[in-house]
Amino acid sequence: MQGLKGKNVLVTGGSSGIGQAIAVRFAEYGANVAINYLGRPEEAKGTEDQVHACVEKVQQEGVRDALVQGDVSREDDVVKMVEQTVADLGGIDVLINNAGIQISRPSHELSSDDFEKVLAVNLRGAFLCAREAICRFLDAGTAGVVINVSSVHQLIPKPSYLGYSVSKGGMQNLTRTLALEYAGQGIRVNSIGPGATTTPINRSWVDDPEKKTMVESHIPMARPGTADEMGGVACFLASDDAAYITGQTIFVDGGLTLFADFREPWSSE
Ligand code: NAD
Repeated sequence: MQGLKGKNVLVTGGSSGIGQAIAVRFAEYGANVAINYLGRPEEAKGTEDQVHACVEKVQQEGVRDALVQGDVSREDDVVKMVEQTVADLGGIDVLINNAGIQISRPSHELSSDDFEKVLAVNLRGAFLCAREAICRFLDAGTAGVVINVSSVHQLIPKPSYLGYSVSKGGMQNLTRTLALEYAGQGIRVNSIGPGATTTPINRSWVDDPEKKTMVESHIPMARPGTADEMGGVACFLASDDAAYITGQTIFVDGGLTLFADFREPWSSE
């Protein structure tokens, strides 16, 4: 992919799942990656090992990586995390807002603490990281890129996951508003909207054959996505091939947002 070699990329929530796959994909294309982890550095070790392996595989001498601790919902952590990325990699060109959580509870039983916790990580965290990255882009005169990892639930309501649905709905306007505000400075802001993807966040159905079959029955392409398939689209959006795309969400969902219930016409006949 054009224009990724030598770019400095910060991936939040980079120690597992989609974030890990995104970090590895960027390294494959010759980008330097700062891998954010929440708690202990060992969490991010698996991603770092894979980054090193693929760097050796593609013989990208000089590709650097850094492990950066931080809770994206904490403003002081985010400021430090972006500072450390710039110090360790020499700058920041691409931010991937990937860190996310979900809490399941019927909405009438949902505590305000749990509602706010999800918004704090998924939406406030994405705002804080974007703000700090955009400040750096503007200071350096960089045509930077922000990519938000949203969800099909930006569009499709998710009952019993109110905080999650609201956070991803908000992410669409975060994407569109920042895209409009900074287009004049050459800064692009886009989202990917994964469908059901095989990652740790989906432990409840990934390892249960019966539940997995049920999930697959709702997906037009009849299978979950892989984290690597999300990584490929994130890299595309950060690349020069997407130089004229801003403010958009690309759903990477095997057709989940196509209203699968309408596969067979059931009205107007
Ligand atoms: P995951 O649980 O493997 O990844 C989430 C990551 O976020 C973890 O590495 C975790 O440590 C990190 N994280 C959580 N809270 C954090 C915080 N406060 N600060 C920093 N990091 C924090 O699951 P995943 O599926 O890879 O999820 C990644 C993103 O993809 C999330 O935003 C999720 O909403 C989105 N997504 C996933 C799916 C799916 O089916 N897996 C579908 C749509 C969207």
